[in-house]
Parts: sequence; structure tokens; C-alpha cells
Amino acid sequence: PVTKLPKVGTTIFTTMSALAAKHQAVNLGQGFPDFDVPALLVDALARAMRAGQNQYAMMTGAPALRAAIAQKTEDCYGYRPDPDTEITVTSGASEAILNAVLAVVRAGEEVIVLDPCYDCYEPAIDMAGAKAVHVPLDASSFAPDWERVRAAITPKTRLLMINSPHNPSGAMLSADDMNEVAAIVQEHGLYLLSDEVYEHIVFDGARHESALRYPALRDRTFVISSFGKTYHCTGWKVGYCVAPPALSVEFRKVHQYNTFCTFHPAQLAFAEMIEKAPEHHRELGHFYQEKRDAFQAQLAETRLKALPVPGGYFQLVDYSDVSDLDDRAFSEWLTIEKGVTGIPLSPFYETPPVGQRLLRLCFAKNPETVAAAMARLKTL
Ligand code: PMP
Ligand code: GLN
Repeated sequence: PVTKLPKVGTTIFTTMSALAAKHQAVNLGQGFPDFDVPALLVDALARAMRAGQNQYAMMTGAPALRAAIAQKTEDCYGYRPDPDTEITVTSGASEAILNAVLAVVRAGEEVIVLDPCYDCYEPAIDMAGAKAVHVPLDASSFAPDWERVRAAITPKTRLLMINSPHNPSGAMLSADDMNEVAAIVQEHGLYLLSDEVYEHIVFDGARHESALRYPALRDRTFVISSFGKTYHCTGWKVGYCVAPPALSVEFRKVHQYNTFCTFHPAQLAFAEMIEKAPEHHRELGHFYQEKRDAFQAQLAETRLKALPVPGGYFQLVDYSDVSDLDDRAFSEWLTIEKGVTGIPLSPFYETPPVGQRLLRLCFAKNPETVAAAMARLKTL
């Protein structure tokens, strides 16, 4: 039998959620909120369904949603993408990432990813018959070293993938980083995939450096986002891609025969939500900053050391004062023996740094969930 994607097994998120369930651990592993989606959004979804909007959406996305995304993008980043030629709604960011890679990467080519990186990047590259070239981020700050990126470029390099705010570290790319990215992709004629699913979850007054702010990037970039992160509904799986017309044409060829279109009633609900309650995405940073601060204050009473979290909803903790186990063994031990589940970092790497003792904890949780986890973590 032919083994497709030989490196692929069950994801670490599924594995750890199953282990958490088996041992009734507090699950701070797989990234998902345990609080409700906004009531307006649920009402809008129910209304769309009752109004009979239950058939296929347009292949490119419901017009109302594409218009709302254009408006939101202009408000946030000062650039208004054309809803007809530059915005495509997808079944989550995951579909958009796969589409973008399949759209521009050919067999035998190379794609640069920055490790640690989200787990769906490399399989998407493999499915295109291409090779993922892994360039490590700094092991403590998770900042990119652009000289190392430059050194990894070959005549076969087609695409660079970036992610800010970053999963798993929460690190964010600066304006200087984005200018470097622009210089690199222009010099070498590369495409860019900018994974911005945590775009609205940024802290301490920082500014999210969307690729859409940079004219030099717009004509070669797929900017990908996800409503799952912004509206606390990771299970709805609706996301989108903003790309210039020529790239959107290619992207849509894949989307058309991958899913064709995405859950229509939810698209109408997101359109209404963005239009009627723009304060939701504007205030999301504050909402999560309070959660981050409360989480870190409680972690300070444990023997886990919290790393800085500029954005996103994950907290990295250094457990080297507690255990010398490697990260997979430690996360299993913590689940089984202490009843708290996190995600080890090594699955996010091609070559994990030797001796790294970091665990990722999700703080998109109710105070009760956090309190239950912390009571257990204090016994470490
Ligand atoms: N990229 C990153 C960095 C993510 O964290 C996630 C979700 N965990 C995705 C993409 C996929 O998003 P979606 O659930 O909308 O497919
Ligand atoms: N994006 C989620 C995370 O990083 C996981 C999504 C999944 O389970 N595939 O935790």
C-alpha cells in the first residue's frame, strides 16, 4: 500500500485532549475557549437558519461577509481589499493554508517555515509534493533571524510562511521584521503566507503588524485569518484569505474543488456581528489581556516560570525547576499525576532544541477552570 504523508500521525492536540479526558485532567492543551460565543452571533446564526439560508453560499463567500471583512480590514490596517477579487471565505484558516500552498507551490519546490510552527504547515507542503525547509526561531525570544532565512533560500524556494501573533510562543513580528520580510520576498521573488489568526489578540498596546499594512507585501501575500479565534467558536471552522486578484484566482481554483464553499448561515452571522458589534474585535485584546494577567499572577505562585506573552492565547512555561523529563514525558506525567494538561513544544519542530523544558498552556478559559488548574499546579 502507498503510504501518503508518512511523517503524519495523530496530532498532539488530539492526543493530549484524549489523555486529559481519560484522566479527568483540566485541559489547558488544545487551544479553544471554554466560554460562550457572543449572544448576538448565536442569535444571528439561528436567524439565518430560520430564514432559510441553508443552501450553498457563493464559492468565494457570502457577499455580506466579504463586504464586512473588507470594511474591518480597512478599519484595522488602512487597506481595503476588493471583496470580489481579493477576499475568499474558507472552512477555517486550515483550509486557507492548504489552498494557498497548493495554489502556488509545485512539486519539487521548497517552502521556508520558521520553527516552532503550527502543525498543519508541513503536511500542506508535503501534499504539494514540495519540501519544507525549517529555519529555527531564537530558542528563548522566538524572534526570527532573517539572515538565517536568507541563507536557507535556494533557486527552488517558492514561499515563506510566517505567523504573528505566534502559536505556540505568543511572540509578535515587529515593523522592522515586516520590512525585512518585504525585502526578502521581493529580492527573491517569493510568495508570502502570513498566518494572522490571532490578529486581534494583542497586548500592552502593541500593534499587530498585518502584512496588509505593507504595500510591498500586498501583491505577493496570502493573509489568512480565522473567526474561530476572534469569536470564541473554534468549532464553526470559518476563516478567510485576503490575497491580490491574481493570487486569489489561483487560490479559488483549489478552494472550488476542495470545499467549494463554507457553512452559509455562519457566514451571514459573522457579517452581522462584524457590522453591528465591531467593538468585539476591537476590545478582544483587553478581554484576553485580563485573562493573561490573571493567569500569570497565579502561575507566580507555582514553580513554573512564565515566559512573556505579547499576543495570542497561549502561555509558555518553563518547568525546569520542577522536572528534568523531556516535554512529551512531562506533559503526560502532568496529566496523569497532577491532572493538568498542556502541550509539549517538540511536535512544533523538525529538530527540537536539546534540553528545552517548555510546555504550552491555553488561557482562553473561565476563571473557574484556571483556578482548578492552578490549585493542582501549586502542588508541583
Ligand atoms: N494557524 C494557527 C497558528 C492556529 O493556531 C490555528 C488554530 N489552532 C490555525 C491556523 C487553524 O485555524 P482554524 O481552526 O480556523 O482552521
Ligand atoms: N489550533 C489549535 C491549537 O494550537 C489546535 C487545533 C487542532 O486541534 N487541530 O491548539
